[in-house]
Amino acid sequence: MEKMRNKSIAERLAKTSYQNFNVAIYCPADVIKNITDFDDFDRRFKLVSNHVKIGRAYIECYRAMDWCEKEQILRVKEYFESKGIATSGGIMTCGDCTDGGWISLCYSKPEGRETLRKSVALNAEIFDEFIFDDFLFLNCRCEECVKQKGDRSWPQFRLDQKKEIAEEIIMKTAKEINPDVNVILKYPQWYEVFDEEGFDLKLEPELFDSIYTGTETRNPTYAQQHIPKYLSYFIMRYLESAAPGRNLGGWFDPYECTYSLTSYLEQCYLTLFAKPKEVTLFGLGVLVFDSEYRLFAPAVGELFAEVDEYLGKLGDPRGVAAYRPAYARGEDNIHNYLGMCGIPFEAYITYPEKEKVIFLCEGAADDADIVSRMKKSMLEGASMIVTSGFVRKLGDAFGEFVNVKYSSRKAIVNEYAVSKNSGVTVGGKYTGAEPVMIPQLDYCTNDIWELAAGYGTDNNFPIVLRCKYGEGSISIITIPDSLGDIYHYPVPVLNVIRSLFSKEIPVTIEGPAQVQLFAYQKSQANGNENDNDEINNSSNSIDHVIVRSDLPYAESFTLKLSDRVKTVKDIVKGIELPIVEGKITLQLAPCVNYVFELK
Ligand SMILES: [Zn+2]
Repeated sequence: MEKMRNKSIAERLAKTSYQNFNVAIYCPADVIKNITDFDDFDRRFKLVSNHVKIGRAYIECYRAMDWCEKEQILRVKEYFESKGIATSGGIMTCGDCTDGGWISLCYSKPEGRETLRKSVALNAEIFDEFIFDDFLFLNCRCEECVKQKGDRSWPQFRLDQKKEIAEEIIMKTAKEINPDVNVILKYPQWYEVFDEEGFDLKLEPELFDSIYTGTETRNPTYAQQHIPKYLSYFIMRYLESAAPGRNLGGWFDPYECTYSLTSYLEQCYLTLFAKPKEVTLFGLGVLVFDSEYRLFAPAVGELFAEVDEYLGKLGDPRGVAAYRPAYARGEDNIHNYLGMCGIPFEAYITYPEKEKVIFLCEGAADDADIVSRMKKSMLEGASMIVTSGFVRKLGDAFGEFVNVKYSSRKAIVNEYAVSKNSGVTVGGKYTGAEPVMIPQLDYCTNDIWELAAGYGTDNNFPIVLRCKYGEGSISIITIPDSLGDIYHYPVPVLNVIRSLFSKEIPVTIEGPAQVQLFAYQKSQANGNENDNDEINNSSNSIDHVIVRSDLPYAESFTLKLSDRVKTVKDIVKGIELPIVEGKITLQLAPCVNYVFELK
């Protein structure tokens, strides 16, 4: 773990409201400025505090042109502290949003810069810590911004301007007033396009004292952000890799979750499965004063109690090394779609050169050194798994490994074959749930082998290709044009894909898509804390897994176990599961977490 930069961070980490994590509530400015009768507020707040052990309240001074004055902030602060709840500040940096959408403050104009400076100064005067709600993005395209952008691309202009305001306005103002203040940058959940709107995953974890992670998911089909559920876990781990030890927590809200209380709770489960230091509930207004959400706080309170019972028994999260460089683009949310197919990932923002199984999606091809890195890994024996999008973006350079090209031709497939002899022959006829449109990969038969294929007319198309390279291997997965259609690959094809990832994971799921697997290894935190890279991410030490089905009906799944697993115990129910020929069969109820100890 990286050494903490100031004592505020160390102090806040020392105290948690639950055994294994802290829980905070975020209090927006437009809500707290209207609290006049604190006795009445105290009665209403019991809807949360009777169910959730709140350890911290973030008290916001500014939100989209709304200010809460200093005296009122101090009154609210006093209220929470009288209840034994620690307090921190908060800022939500939007401007006038009455014209539709969220519009950031404009930092090309003096008014926007002054609003930012004033809100930072107010927080630093009152608190030893404050957080930026994830609206510290830049999406203004006013005449002045167009002028200042000049010949730069929008992402470059915004990254440059964000760095300037972070250094010259935020950190300078805050540290002049309160040198030990902990300034937290909360990142939104849309990491796939961070740089487009000025979020810099490489530089900002260094500029700010600490960071925070948005883990909000909605219904992926019906909501604007189209995010698979696995994101709530994956992004926590990804941002942890961007700021080791300084990703202070995960944050979610109940918006667009009234269709299913379970969808709200799933954000919290997955955030917790990533082993956060803190979970923040957004927010005071919606959870306390909005009758539509009355059931949410009591339900999430019960969830915290439930997970706290077993989270401490799980070690550090582990999974297949998934490399995504800071400014990567392409195949949005591919890790989360594959995560929903039962593949456990551990995210890396820097190339995981010590790992033996490495997954690269289209965005990884944005690393200019990727070919030499891959070559070294495979010569040392690594199994490399790449997507068709990675092949497309790398283009001719992929020929260093094998002559496979992403063609402009498509195929619609609904029947598939798999190979049982490493690609010498393919066979069987397995029907998918729906027809799927895939890109056709051109490849040279007898140089690389089909492990799974989709049938065409007098033809078939590779779904999984694999060949040796050096001491290692390279496998290519064909990703459907509509990424979610990967769920429609039939079970035998999904099982071939999962088996590519299973070399270092002692449990492989066999069954349909929309099932998640999380893996843990006994904590090594007590060892050499400064040597994170040396942690052994291997099957020899994975000793707990969680399995969770997101299918809307109960379904039978098989867990294929590696040879070293002799017993599987459900630690919630306290029962041992029978192993038959290296497998256990489970009937998974929808959205229930099955927590297993492996020995
Ligand atoms: Zn502007």
